[in-house]
Amino acid sequence: MKGETGTPLLEVDQVFKAFRVGSEGWLGDKAILVRAINGVSITITRGESFCLVGESGCGKSTLARTVMGLETPTSGTISYEGMRIDDLADDKRLPFRQKMQMIFQNPYASLNPRMTVNQTLEEPLRFHRPDLSPSALRDKVVEVMESVGNNPDWGERFPHEFSGGQRQRISIARALMVDPEFVVADEPISALDVSIQAQVLNVMMEAREKHNLTYLFITHDLSVVEHFGSRVGVMYLGALCELADTKTLFSNPRHPYTQGLLAAIPKMDGTELSHTKMKGEVPTAMNLPPGCVFHTRCPLAKDRCKVDIPELRDIAGRQVACHYAEETA
Ligand code: SF4
Repeated sequence: MKGETGTPLLEVDQVFKAFRVGSEGWLGDKAILVRAINGVSITITRGESFCLVGESGCGKSTLARTVMGLETPTSGTISYEGMRIDDLADDKRLPFRQKMQMIFQNPYASLNPRMTVNQTLEEPLRFHRPDLSPSALRDKVVEVMESVGNNPDWGERFPHEFSGGQRQRISIARALMVDPEFVVADEPISALDVSIQAQVLNVMMEAREKHNLTYLFITHDLSVVEHFGSRVGVMYLGALCELADTKTLFSNPRHPYTQGLLAAIPKMDGTELSHTKMKGEVPTAMNLPPGCVFHTRCPLAKDRCKVDIPELRDIAGRQVACHYAEETA
């Protein structure tokens, strides 16, 4: 039934996104094609916190921006509650801009330095609900500021007067002002001091409960996902390599890249912190390796991996894109 927890809310179907970099005469004879997303399909159900994980440059932020309509897919579709939204004209997209909100990585850059907290929070609601009275607007600001643990008396202050954590809580409040259903959070804690990351994560988890939110949470840090996500998609060079519920992924990762990411999380070994760094650098999306894009770093790569692209397939209760996933348990 529409609107019920567990029903599909957002569907990303075979999305590709490529950018042309440079132009004729600048970088030689022709522009370079950067293939940022290469055939990603994900269904996010209402009420879940879907985490998309991968190293910098894997295409996860491009996917977030494409879902939000800030980029147009080169091919493929994005649907919300069964309705295709990636090709909508601006006026038809408007109702979805209220239902879908985004929290950005850098709270220093995403808040307008010349606007007070009240102006920042009132702006989206004035736009989407022009019928609301000034007192109703003010009541909503107070309600939302309190719900993210900020003092509503800060309303006349400017962003530079706040710490990074307080600013990010203001950004979360701004997203919540219009009562969204779906929130895309693009690395929302990675610009913050480690000591306040957990605090902001807690605010987001509480907001999920209070406001029945569904999240697409983007992060490079797999350790964050264990406590936040209900399901995880692991991305490498624009493609999904493993898709599983969080418990399954952490207890028994099957893709060699997921295994590498998990091994790289520092753990206590006796009295020492230890971790195993993954070998090699991520190749550039301007020049994708043939076959399995992970083969240049994969400890299990065989000749076939250099030629055949592995499809995402069901195995052991999750989806894995590896020719040899049966052997990686
Ligand atoms: Fe490694 Fe080959 Fe599997 Fe790719 S397909 S992850 S290179 S074993």
